[in-house]
Amino acid sequence: MSTDWLRRWPGVRHNEPLSRHSQFGIGGPADLFLRLDDLAMVAELVGECTENGVALTLLGAGTNALVLDGGIRGMALRVMSREVSAGDGEVTLAAGAMLPRVALDLARRGLGGMEWGIGVPGTCGASIWGNAGAFGGEVSTSLVSCEVAAPDGTTAWIDAADCAFGYRHSRFKDDLRGHVVLRGRFAVVADTEAAVRRRTDSVQAERKRTQPYGVRSLGSTFKNPPGDFAGRLIEAAGLAGRTHGGAQVSPKHANFILNIDHATAADVLALVAVARDEVASRFGVVLEREIEVLGEPAAAPAGASAS
Ligand SMILES: Cc1cc2nc3c(=O)[nH]c(=O)nc-3n(C[C@H](O)[C@H](O)[C@H](O)COP(=O)(O)OP(=O)(O)OC[C@H]3O[C@@H](n4cnc5c(N)ncnc54)[C@H](O)[C@@H]3O)c2cc1C
Repeated sequence: MSTDWLRRWPGVRHNEPLSRHSQFGIGGPADLFLRLDDLAMVAELVGECTENGVALTLLGAGTNALVLDGGIRGMALRVMSREVSAGDGEVTLAAGAMLPRVALDLARRGLGGMEWGIGVPGTCGASIWGNAGAFGGEVSTSLVSCEVAAPDGTTAWIDAADCAFGYRHSRFKDDLRGHVVLRGRFAVVADTEAAVRRRTDSVQAERKRTQPYGVRSLGSTFKNPPGDFAGRLIEAAGLAGRTHGGAQVSPKHANFILNIDHATAADVLALVAVARDEVASRFGVVLEREIEVLGEPAAAPAGASAS
């Protein structure tokens, strides 16, 4: 297949290690990797990848997605635009805007309504995709509409009511998989900087009290099952502090898996499997993964064979 079309995209890197582009610090190489600031160019690239039969994988900050050790075939794209613009009772955030920074920026502007974003250390685009939320707020409670690029590169605004948001769920994980989020319009309310900061500070303090902080993780590994907490079940199964290679089940919050010493994706998945199996066998609860797994496992070493 011709790769001539790639000449239009001079920033493309070949065989780029994705561990360099993820806050979790894990991930094999992408065949092709590109960072784009311009949202119109993002939409164009989406269309060109489809036209040329190249699989496209979106990367955010890497605070929820585990990229496997074999990396990503095709193109991995990181949307960098972090633009924040405030209008009448709304703010528009570009897909690359980091929610904790947005929460602080809005506080300085005396705008409330997105204080919960201080507890979600990822990008706006990925957070809409997964309906991220923290401490009582989530995307679905604030989003008005979002602009997306369809696989053919055309763009459209979709009302929040049409995004089928659920617990860490949206249509972008389902019938609109392959659509790329470009921007979100969020409702905000006028307030004083001091009042908004009091609320962001309280979310932040609660986060620091209950979650591992300043260490590499992907947040909650599993969704909470109805009426219970995944972290409580994993801890009750005696797994807090359990390690595999360079990965560890957080001793502070057992639903977090940490990269404490050059962990591989395989190390992380080994702990995911132990936690799921132990909780199922001891308590009869089947945990559903919240983290997203992208790419391919590492190839087996030459000479290895199944027995
Ligand atoms: C310490 C810590 C605490 C956390 N606490 C919370 C919490 O309280 N609540 C919560 O909900 N989450 C939490 N998370 C998880 C994470 O921050 C959120 O899920 C966040 O929305 C992921 O953003 P990201 O940019 O890192 O996405 P990534 O992990 O890079 O990607 C996640 C998924 O989004 C897709 N994606 C990325 N960008 C786009 C785009 N523009 N369009 C379409 N798809 C896209 C990717 O393909 C991938 O499948 C926490 C994580 C950490 C490390």
